[in-house]
Amino acid sequence: MRLLIIEDEAKLRSVLRRGLEAAGYVVDEAEDGQGGIARALDGGYDAILLDILLPDIDGFEVCMQLRRAEVWSPVLMLTALDAVDDRIRGLDAGADDYLVKPFAIGELLSRLRALIRRGRPPRPAVLTCGSLELDPATRSVSWDGHPVELSRREFALLEFLLHHRDEVVQRATILRHVWGVRSDEQSNIIDAFVRNLRDKLDRRFDYPLIETVRGVGFRLRCPSNE
Ligand code: CA
Repeated sequence: MRLLIIEDEAKLRSVLRRGLEAAGYVVDEAEDGQGGIARALDGGYDAILLDILLPDIDGFEVCMQLRRAEVWSPVLMLTALDAVDDRIRGLDAGADDYLVKPFAIGELLSRLRALIRRGRPPRPAVLTCGSLELDPATRSVSWDGHPVELSRREFALLEFLLHHRDEVVQRATILRHVWGVRSDEQSNIIDAFVRNLRDKLDRRFDYPLIETVRGVGFRLRCPSNE
């Protein structure tokens, strides 16, 4: 089993290497994000241990670039940041699990075993609506082959609507799934994001892509001839 450690703290790197080698793994190291990406692109790692705070680009970016380059080795993120938001960001970026520093080597080994047992994460399917394509794996959106830049939340909203294409989705449901909010008090935040999506997408279609269903919610309309 081959592992790649991407971690800038030399001391932690060598502790990890010793622990992992003692458990029978073959270990390669990188001390920054770009170096890690270069090694990972060479491929063949059964898992990648990825620190979040790195000197050049952060671990989220490393993970996203790897997935974009179709590198599907399972990624275990290591971080001192114990915020729910970072956990979600890590998983959004395509990481498979998350371990908070400081951790015991035994805990790391058991997480690694679980991760490797699960195998490579399946590549998520590309979602389409006419000539609009959203690729959850590479976190990219294109219309007729032209890239469309979306913010993280706009992306999440569009992804959710695509999963429910041609259905009327209630505001409360959108809030719960895209914002993680349970009450619909903040229901008008959706409107701003829908407006942004319309600005970026609707002008490319000859009909409104996102319909407002008054008093209920929204519907993403897709051409039926596909
Ligand atoms: Ca670090």
